[in-house]
Amino acid sequence: MVIAENVRKNFGKLQVLKGISLEVKQGEVVVIIGPSGSGKSTFLRCINHLEARDSGVVEVDGQPVGFSQSAGGRLLPVKGKDLCRLRSSIGMVFQRFNLFPHMTALANVMEGPVTVLGKSRQEARQLAEELLAKVGLADKADSFPSQLSGGQQQRVAIARALAMKPKLMLFDEPTSALDPELVGEVLAVIKNLAAEGMTMIIVTHEMGFAREVADRVVFMDEGKIIESGTPEQIFTSPRHPRTREFLSSVL
Ligand code: ATP
Ligand code: MG
Repeated sequence: MVIAENVRKNFGKLQVLKGISLEVKQGEVVVIIGPSGSGKSTFLRCINHLEARDSGVVEVDGQPVGFSQSAGGRLLPVKGKDLCRLRSSIGMVFQRFNLFPHMTALANVMEGPVTVLGKSRQEARQLAEELLAKVGLADKADSFPSQLSGGQQQRVAIARALAMKPKLMLFDEPTSALDPELVGEVLAVIKNLAAEGMTMIIVTHEMGFAREVADRVVFMDEGKIIESGTPEQIFTSPRHPRTREFLSSVL
């Protein structure tokens, strides 16, 4: 479903991604952990081309992301409709919920299907109601973001991403802006998605959650993947000293 090969990204002189390779299979849940500044967010953003990589290959569901190879071997930018199609097949949920403040929860979830996918309002409304129910917010459809708790807002953000029927979901620290008592409800929604077979890449510092939900855990440090393995391997017998050091600082 996702292929990343030797992805590199610099910001000026700073090498942020130093050749990241990762393959994610259909239905797999990969959790990325690592210290602040190690490049986790930048890597996620390269997967949906919110950030343009400097080199390397990214493919999602067989489609080249950002650049494609021409017959002559030159890299050509993917833009316009093709980039839109790609973006709409990848859902992304950020640390901050980024809901439209002037729209109700329902309208937030309907927006993408209506404006991007061209669905009728009636069809979009039905889908949005189903998705709000799925994230446990059937009774909040008419609330505005300012009337919702952080955890509720984040669940609306997840419903909004799901409304685009993504093939892949990317989560960048979806609970780190939440009060501790609100973290569980958001993680529960993500866990349900995992159980339904959604392909996901999740950056989190919730190690307990990582352990529960991940098929594979990837440890990044200083722009590289240092090691990856099953949660069991990474959390109980990490091979690399840097992984051990990181885990002892967060567990
Ligand atoms: P955190 O756990 O704190 O979210 P991270 O692993 O997600 O960290 P990134 O946000 O990917 O790390 O940042 C990696 C490095 O790239 C950092 O040193 C950061 O300052 C730098 N960086 C990120 N975005 C930019 C940008 N747009 N311009 C310049 N430098 C950037
Ligand atoms: Mg980050």
